[in-house]
Amino acid sequence: MSAPPVQRLAEPGATPAGGAPVIGVMGVIGVMGERGERGVMSVMGVMGGGQLGRMFVHAAQVHGFQVVVLEPDAASPAGAAADRHLVAAYTDASALVDMARSCQAVTTEFENVPAAALRQLAQGCRVAPPADAVEVCQHRAREKACFAQADVPCAPHALLSSVDDASRPELAALLPGILKTASMGYDGKGQVSVARVADLPAAWAGLGAVPCVLEKRLSLRCEISVVVARGADGQQVHLPVQQNLHRDGILAVTQIPAPDVSPELCAQAVVLATRLADTLDYVGVLCVEFFVLNDGSLVANEMAPRPHNSGHASIDACDVSQFDLQVRTLAGLPLVQPRLHSPAVMLNLLGDLWFAGGDALASTPDWAAVLALPGVRLHLYGKSEPRRGRKMGHLTVTAATAQLARATAQLAAQHLGLSGFQ
Ligand code: ADP
Ligand code: MG
Repeated sequence: MSAPPVQRLAEPGATPAGGAPVIGVMGVIGVMGERGERGVMSVMGVMGGGQLGRMFVHAAQVHGFQVVVLEPDAASPAGAAADRHLVAAYTDASALVDMARSCQAVTTEFENVPAAALRQLAQGCRVAPPADAVEVCQHRAREKACFAQADVPCAPHALLSSVDDASRPELAALLPGILKTASMGYDGKGQVSVARVADLPAAWAGLGAVPCVLEKRLSLRCEISVVVARGADGQQVHLPVQQNLHRDGILAVTQIPAPDVSPELCAQAVVLATRLADTLDYVGVLCVEFFVLNDGSLVANEMAPRPHNSGHASIDACDVSQFDLQVRTLAGLPLVQPRLHSPAVMLNLLGDLWFAGGDALASTPDWAAVLALPGVRLHLYGKSEPRRGRKMGHLTVTAATAQLARATAQLAAQHLGLSGFQ
């Protein structure tokens, strides 16, 4: 058997890439540069080393690319899968120069990568999504301003930047509400429920006296999300609308197709998500989370400038996954509308599973029991230390019908000691 072709990391000053593909050779994709020159796209970069980066690395490698990961943690899920791992801070100037020289295009798997780092990278290589769009998604107030600009409804809210702000009596109209740090929040962290105006100053101080957004707590029928991919030419495609169940602020279950949402409402959510991507002049994969209110109306919650936990089922249930779309938008490859070939249920696997029954010592969950069920695919992210609330993996159940996928997922949940779902 002959050895597989070896791809070299690009030399400094390699031809910049972008635009439409012209030819594929031995796993290296030729592309037409933005100025029309013929170049070779062989190395992609990703900022961040988490599970989203790991799944991006896998998809990029399937397409024949090498991947460089920039991530300060030497033992990261994406770093372990990458062709090369630059162990450095996201703002490390020499690492960014190295990254821009090694890669023809760089993306991010983590919305809190400093926008300045993306701007520096953009001087030497293609960067998608653009720093400006990532910066909007990093801050809840900027995000809500973008919703308004795109004429997308969101929850009534106010920005609190000082203790005086937090004491304004008119905030009573937003209570009971949720006080959220304007930046760096995830998985329900950096949030606290507030019932009375008198409690606001202490709640604000408890979150570190940083800029916060107070949002009215809405009564939700359910939650959905839409993953869109937008190319540099403005073309957009989207994954099927996902219905999400959160527990303690963390995604627990995603179902596609969304069982409790009409096709008309799904189509409306896609229109709104598409409009947001246009407003941001976005290139890449964008996820928009929506609340479905009891009256059937849609309210945007937040956006992620990257693939999203709720889109993971697309790996096993669609012909093009959200990570394939990320690769395609980065390489300037054609975007085709993903097709759902199987209804699916995704269950998130948090570190709590390793401590079933309140054990102090971690023990491996009974994977054999769930893998004995038909249509179950287990994805573990290679994290060595399980911790409560930490995303360790997910499993996707696909089946011929949504009913069967749900029944099998309920059984899988039961085997693992997870709560069932509606
Ligand atoms: P994170 O960045 O941690 O995902 P979110 O703002 O999405 O933060 O909030 C996490 C979850 O908390 C949401 O998915 C939803 O279940 C609940 N939640 C957040 N804001 C509201 C709200 N205004 N009304 C009702 N529920 C909310
Ligand atoms: Mg969220």
